[in-house]
Amino acid sequence: MSIVLSTLNARYSHASLGLRYLLANMAELRAQTRIAEFVIGARTSTIVEQLLALQPRIIGFGVYIWNVEETTRVVALLKRLAPDIKIILGGPEVSYESAEQAIVQMADYLITGWGEVSLPQLCRQILHGPRPLMKIHAGIQPPLRDLVLPYSLYSDMDIAQRTLYVEASRGCPFKCEFCLSALDKTAWPFELDAFLAEMDGLYARGARVFKFVDRTFNLNIKTSLKIMQFFLDKIALRPDDPVFAHFELVPDHLPEALKDTIARFPPGALQFEIGIQTFNPDVQALVSRKQDNAKAAANIHWLRHHSHAHLHVDLIAGLPGEDMASFARGFDQLVALGPHEIQFGILKRLRGTPIIRHTEPYGLLFDPYPPYSILATDRIDFATMQRLVRFARYWDLVANSGRFAPLLPTLLGDAPFDQFMALSDWLYARTDATHRIALDRLARLLADWLETRGLTVAGDAAGKSAAPKGTSRPASPLPPRQAAHLAH
Ligand code: SF4
Repeated sequence: MSIVLSTLNARYSHASLGLRYLLANMAELRAQTRIAEFVIGARTSTIVEQLLALQPRIIGFGVYIWNVEETTRVVALLKRLAPDIKIILGGPEVSYESAEQAIVQMADYLITGWGEVSLPQLCRQILHGPRPLMKIHAGIQPPLRDLVLPYSLYSDMDIAQRTLYVEASRGCPFKCEFCLSALDKTAWPFELDAFLAEMDGLYARGARVFKFVDRTFNLNIKTSLKIMQFFLDKIALRPDDPVFAHFELVPDHLPEALKDTIARFPPGALQFEIGIQTFNPDVQALVSRKQDNAKAAANIHWLRHHSHAHLHVDLIAGLPGEDMASFARGFDQLVALGPHEIQFGILKRLRGTPIIRHTEPYGLLFDPYPPYSILATDRIDFATMQRLVRFARYWDLVANSGRFAPLLPTLLGDAPFDQFMALSDWLYARTDATHRIALDRLARLLADWLETRGLTVAGDAAGKSAAPKGTSRPASPLPPRQAAHLAH
């Protein structure tokens, strides 16, 4: 095999859509190209051994924030053992601020931005000449209709065991300064009928879980409706063999026609990831995030009470201009809207994002190592930020997991942020850990906490594990957390 396309995925269950796009668009080089995926945490020497066993002349790596450190070690070993193999890098982590990165310095070539056109061009030159003169190539961005869609490259094993990522559009028209998609300035749709034909093919091969990576699924309502109808038709056709579809929504744009369609989905078939990030209008203005808070809140409330969609809402701690009190208010406001999960992220300085313009005025201090998390701001010192990081972790274990749903109202009372922060500080003082806390131990700790506070929960709720209680929908393709929430 002369060309290997490789990446380290964050988990085995993630199948790289990016690599499959590249392979699908290799044209006449496709037959001599293959994909080799690994998972972070694997031994570097094992990865290198497996790559060398394929005897490639070129290896292309997809580099992301979650794998840049390990991929750097892989490239370093490859350059020691087989310096003649040409290494090409691509991916968001190396597309900006490239020259200063160790991995870029070791590699032979770098393609920034899109790779589907530029990678085969570069490979042709490496294999057949003339030798490429430049090390860094700005990726050509073709019209989407010119791309070969990659979905047939999901193997039967991918379909059976892994999350299938799909995209009906690329890019985002919004400009939130902490987000890489802000650099796109617009969104581009794939040709819808061709895309749905591919989805049909995946469905016919047994795919039942579809994760859309479109940054703003509900931008073009006509398109959103057609895609949702596709899934509704599948559900109507085979109610005993349900599908599960995940979409990212902008929260303040939910016209009636879309609501009507969303309301027709049965439980366990639909999941929305909704970015709120912050409810503070001053902070929103600072980071150029356009959001109608009242509409966004009303829409989340509507979704929670008039649809069966599983709601996963994002907040970011550590944004410039936001202090603890403001963050706490936003958190409480969100809890009151009742989403199934609140994904509480800590601001990261993604390479290329314009958020850095606030570094000095707002005293932003970022970790210099991936994932470049914020360490402190002029309003949240390091010790407090650490408390927020632990809060996020415990929130995930206790609330988002769905395992302790019957306890949550008592744990949160009428001041969710303050009460959960007190619990978080207490848990950390007792365990000195935020990871590897066994479920039964966590259940005992929560029972102790309630006891020390003189709080009681009705029934035998403490520590109850929310294993799915068998919904009326057989053979559910639901991920475990969604099943846990559905069980309550
Ligand atoms: S945060 Fe969401 S809406 Fe804002 S630029 Fe990124 S993808 Fe677009």
